[in-house]
Parts: sequence; structure tokens; C-alpha cells
Amino acid sequence: MNDPEDDAEDPAERKMRFLFQLRSRGVTDPRVLEAMERIDRGLFVRGQFSDRAYEDTPLPIPCGQTISQPSVVGLMTQALNPGPRDTVLEVGTGSGYQAAVLSALCRRVYTVDRHRRLVQEAEAIFHDLGISNITAQVADGSRGLPDQAPFDRILVTAAAEDPPGPLLAQLKIGGIMVVPVGQSDAVQTLIRVTRSETGFDYDELRQVRFVPLVEGLGQT
Ligand code: SAH
Repeated sequence: MNDPEDDAEDPAERKMRFLFQLRSRGVTDPRVLEAMERIDRGLFVRGQFSDRAYEDTPLPIPCGQTISQPSVVGLMTQALNPGPRDTVLEVGTGSGYQAAVLSALCRRVYTVDRHRRLVQEAEAIFHDLGISNITAQVADGSRGLPDQAPFDRILVTAAAEDPPGPLLAQLKIGGIMVVPVGQSDAVQTLIRVTRSETGFDYDELRQVRFVPLVEGLGQT
């Protein structure tokens, strides 16, 4: 598997393998695959783990956080099903990779993280990539982003015990929220919440493992 020749792998071949892995794990939506083909995950993984950026595995990023596994990014994006005119809130900017993938599929992305360092580093990558439809902000995402609400789509990339009330309230009617729910140190269930005229419908999608949604801002 870890053949040293991998280092010398041609980028086109590496990309094909990356996309093949995504498809084999259930990411089949052509728009999502196209967005993930376009946004190079290698730019969002730094330091000693950068040579593993194209593997289907979560990897450490600064502030003790993780960049999600690519197939999970794909499956969550697919479940969220953002449209080209949608405004999306992402809670948990982390590396910025998921936000960049979303930005290729919708009109505007607001992404928030409790760690300033992560927001700043992600913003620098968005700038280098010429992405201009992402607004990244330091904020406690468990409260949502009331000034920009309501949202067509909300994606939470940290695990909450329950879908946070303020986020439910900031979802448009007809809107969709995807959120991992469960105890932070255990396996969680990814759920999709759809808001109707009369209430909220919940679908359980799959088991996942995310870092916890923590209230308040981080120290860095
Ligand atoms: N979507 C990211 C991965 C997120 S990891 C990516 O593509 O790389 C989860 C992130 O959620 C972490 O960066 C963590 O700092 C952030 N987080 C946890 N609780 C939060 C909260 N209450 N508000 C905002 N961000 C939070």
C-alpha cells in the first residue's frame, strides 16, 4: 500500500485514484465528485501528514482538530444537496476543505470555527485559490450565525449531543441540515434534518466519528 513509488505518482493518476475511492464508498453525485476533483485536498493538509492527503482517512490539523475523511466529506455534501442559489452555513471550518467543496456547489458559504488560527489559515487558502464566495468567521457555531440567517443548508462538522436549537431555528422552511449527533467520545450518527412548514423530519444516515462541538471560543 505505502509503496515509496507513490511519492512519484503522477497527479492525474493520483486524482483518478482519489475519485475512485470516493465512488467506491458511495459518493456518486456527479456535482459532488466534480467539486472534489476541482478542490485539491493536498492544499489543506500541511506538515508531516501532507503526503497522505489523497488517502481516504481523517488527518490531524492544528489546534488538536482533524480534517475529515474525504468520503465522509463527499457523503455529507451529497446528503446536504446544496443548490447553486443556496446560502450554506458550515459549523467547524477546520482546515477549510469542506467549505471549499461547498463553495463550488452553492452561491455563498458562511463557515465558522471557534479557533482563530484555523479560520485565518483557511482564509489564506481560499484567497490563494481565488475563492470569493466564502465568508469565514471566528464564532461559536452552536449559536449559528443569527446576522446571516436563515440558511438554505446547514452542515455541522463537529458532533453535538442533539441538533443545536439555534441552528434548527436558523434553517429555512424546506432547508436541510446535516449533523453528527451523539456522545463526543463515541461513534455518532449522522442525521439529516429537513424543515417543513409544520416541523422537522429526521433521517439517520450512517455512523461517523467527529471531534465534539464545544461551546465558547478557543484560546488560539
Ligand atoms: N470541516 C472541517 C473539519 C472540521 S473538524 C474540514 O473540512 O477540515 C471540527 C471543527 O469544529 C474544529 O475545527 C473545531 O474547532 C470546530 N468546532 C468545534 N466546536 C465548535 C463551535 N462551537 N463553534 C465553531 N466551531 C467549532
